[in-house]
Amino acid sequence: MAFRNRSIVPATASGPTRDPTSRIEELGAALVSLEAITPADLAAALATDPCTEHDFIVQATKSERRAANKTSVAKVWASFHSLPTVDFRQIVPDEQTATLLEQRLARSLRAFPFRQDSDGIHVAIADPSVSGRQAVEAALPGTLVFHVAAEAEISSALDRLFRADAEIGILVQAFESSDTALAALAASHHGDEEDGPVVQIANRVIAQGLRDRASDVHIEPMNDRIRVRFRIDGHMVDTFSLPLSAHAALVSRYKILGGMNIVERRRPQDGQFSTSIDGRDLDVRVSTLATVFGEKVVMRLLDKSRAALELKHLGMPADTNAKWAKLIHAPFGMVICAGPTGAGKTTTLYATLREINSGGKNVMTIEDPVEYVFPGINQIQTNEQAGLTFAHGLKAILRQDPDVILVGEVRDADTARIAVQSALTGHLVLSSLHGTDSVAALHRFLDMGIESFLIASSVVAVVGQRLLRRICDACKEPYEPGPEEMIVWEREGRAPKDQFWHGAGCTFCAGTGFRDRIGVYELLKITPELRRLIVGWATQEELRRLAVSQGMRTLVEEALMLVESDVTTIDEVIRSLYAG
Ligand SMILES: [Zn+2]
Repeated sequence: MAFRNRSIVPATASGPTRDPTSRIEELGAALVSLEAITPADLAAALATDPCTEHDFIVQATKSERRAANKTSVAKVWASFHSLPTVDFRQIVPDEQTATLLEQRLARSLRAFPFRQDSDGIHVAIADPSVSGRQAVEAALPGTLVFHVAAEAEISSALDRLFRADAEIGILVQAFESSDTALAALAASHHGDEEDGPVVQIANRVIAQGLRDRASDVHIEPMNDRIRVRFRIDGHMVDTFSLPLSAHAALVSRYKILGGMNIVERRRPQDGQFSTSIDGRDLDVRVSTLATVFGEKVVMRLLDKSRAALELKHLGMPADTNAKWAKLIHAPFGMVICAGPTGAGKTTTLYATLREINSGGKNVMTIEDPVEYVFPGINQIQTNEQAGLTFAHGLKAILRQDPDVILVGEVRDADTARIAVQSALTGHLVLSSLHGTDSVAALHRFLDMGIESFLIASSVVAVVGQRLLRRICDACKEPYEPGPEEMIVWEREGRAPKDQFWHGAGCTFCAGTGFRDRIGVYELLKITPELRRLIVGWATQEELRRLAVSQGMRTLVEEALMLVESDVTTIDEVIRSLYAG
């Protein structure tokens, strides 16, 4: 199995300690009998020949499509070793005790001490196996009392314990009590006071953004404060407030980092810088824009360590995945990813590129922005100021003897025309297109004035996609959907369902009831019959009807299947699929 190499082994284990296979099988049987995992999960996990109980659990709960209840898995695993569990929704870890284990070590061991009393040091662990406990004992001297929690809950608890908020609060005080805002501004202008409070606040804000899985960090001046918001799983979350007096210095700091002009405060600017936080390499794209209250800074965080998604980890159902993997190996033609902004198109294209890229091919891209750098691929960043648009870049690429071309986005008729021509002249062209679904994307081409026969003969497949938020594992509970939700459920012809689930909202999910996202995909393969319809300028409805009759599952169907398997809610489906 290809993913055996990827399985996570405790980072601190000295040498590969193997847990006995018979014990792993017993644990698996216990999990199945208590319905924490399915027999299919068990068989799949055992087939990977797991070395440790932890490996086994990772494999048995990895199914993206089915929401394994990781909290109940943790419970069964704990009782298998006669250990208690701990719930950090009810218990607040003692911050002082937590510092007994260094943060880096706590993260790699997936464990942290949370209380100390006459019994000893109470430690929360995600891996209660003998080898897991030994690793913690080696790192933390003293009498340890173990309690088990799901791995995700441990890492959320760690994120909260080591939040930057508290540090930022202290820094803000330091900033306010130090001379004046002006002095700090002057210091940061020269960038020579690397440990000045503003510099540190600037760094902590980015670090917290990364820990909270934010894709963007917004620094917004308001009339009485600076509001810092993160975009997490596509939604804006209020994170901190900073005093307005820090605004000028903070903006200057980010401009210095981004290589921008700090004196220019009226014109919009953009820049970028690279940094490393918690051992993760990060590219940050900074943009500033003057609002009525002053300059607003938005930073997009591109976590390079997250780049390496493979096709099979996108969350496509197995059959869609298999079809897509086959289609993208077409020798020429055009393969399109369609969806609105934030639908995960880039992730799909990158995973696809990763699958296609091999030494025997010349793969070239033109992108805005280049989000991740692939070894062995020639990636080009558009540059409007230098006249390097998508269309110009694409023309230049065609003179460079490419086999596979990725066009980050087709936004205009020029680019569309060249892309279609390239696809017809022996190149495989991958691209994204703004459109509500796969059929709408085909019509976008027609709207751009591309002749229908050119579209029909060049496009191989279109995948329409969205990202839906997953129900938070920690606060998942049964609920009664409202009438609007039930109308959608019934209108889409879904069979009655005994129990629906949602997230009640808890500290792990910032009260949203959701944590992380999963992709839904609608794969439109262009068949000869569809080709005829496209040439004849068929309407979107006609195209969709034929595609469905030929076996395409629509986005709505795919999304409701995720409701069926308790991964997301009907409300989330409505919000992301019907609202535009
Ligand atoms: Zn929650």
